[in-house]
Amino acid sequence: MKSNAVIAIHGGAGTILRASMAPEVETRYLDALSGILAAGQRILAAGGSALDAVEQAVRLLEDCPLFNAGHGAVFTSAGTHELDASIMDGRTLEAGAVCCVKHVRNPVLAARRVLEKSEHVLFTGEGAEAFAAAQGLEFVDPGYFHTDARYRQWLLARGEARAMLDHDGATLEAKAAANASADSLPHEPIDPNRKFGTVGAVALDAHGHLAAATSTGGITNKQVGRVGDAPLIGAGCYADDATCAVSTTGSGEMFMRMVAAYDVAAQMKYRGVSLSEAATNVVMEQLPRIDGRGGLIAVDAQGNVVLPFNTEGMYRGYARVGEAPVASIYV
Ligand code: ASP
Repeated sequence: MKSNAVIAIHGGAGTILRASMAPEVETRYLDALSGILAAGQRILAAGGSALDAVEQAVRLLEDCPLFNAGHGAVFTSAGTHELDASIMDGRTLEAGAVCCVKHVRNPVLAARRVLEKSEHVLFTGEGAEAFAAAQGLEFVDPGYFHTDARYRQWLLARGEARAMLDHDGATLEAKAAANASADSLPHEPIDPNRKFGTVGAVALDAHGHLAAATSTGGITNKQVGRVGDAPLIGAGCYADDATCAVSTTGSGEMFMRMVAAYDVAAQMKYRGVSLSEAATNVVMEQLPRIDGRGGLIAVDAQGNVVLPFNTEGMYRGYARVGEAPVASIYV
């Protein structure tokens, strides 16, 4: 029997202007996405679960400094890092999540442990860290999450006295760089280490099961204690074998207010529409009603994959078992 197994990932959405991205930077992003897709694809090809595949993909995205999760996470208004992550198993509807963690190296691993080892779904702050410590997960000094590029982006956001999506921050930084060197390089490419993005993965395994995971540092210059959609089941992450698996990225407050990830599943369930129709409706019609910006990735039980976004770009890709990974950035 032919397997429909497939994995899709995202590395955040936002104002990613082609003019400000040097070709070698673009290649670096595409290579990172393809490599991580291949790692998830190997798990699925070996008959592994969708849950294992999305956990592994998000763990690798957290470790990659190009993206806003784990190492390379954005700064809060206090110059600290507060990380959120979630994971959901479409087979059982079990879910786990953590938010506002400051020392757990891979928040998605903590979310997976919550799913498997706890009767609860979401742990916050100190409680989340105590749970992760009891599970023997790796802890790091907060300095591990620091990158100079993120720090500069935070200084710019503070200067504008606002919180922003990470890729908008990178664009602001590119403008500052271009202004500083206007005589020589009007479109100076962004330093490869200066662009990042929230991450997520969705997968269908060879056994017909779905899973989703999402992980983020949040938005640059966010207030201490602010939590977005990423760790909230139904807003930033959702999976149900009966419909689809979804991971989102964008202005978290709007995704929470629209219960965006669940709305895709709910439209399929109650309106009887296809994955493509449901996802397009959420991203292109529902979220814009409240100025919600961003996108999502989703897969259904037949292996259909959609990656819609309403911003200029979204780091994204998918890989079917037996086929080469496909990664893209722009429309
Ligand atoms: N959705 C994330 C949040 O609001 C941010 C992002 O996707 O870049 O925390």
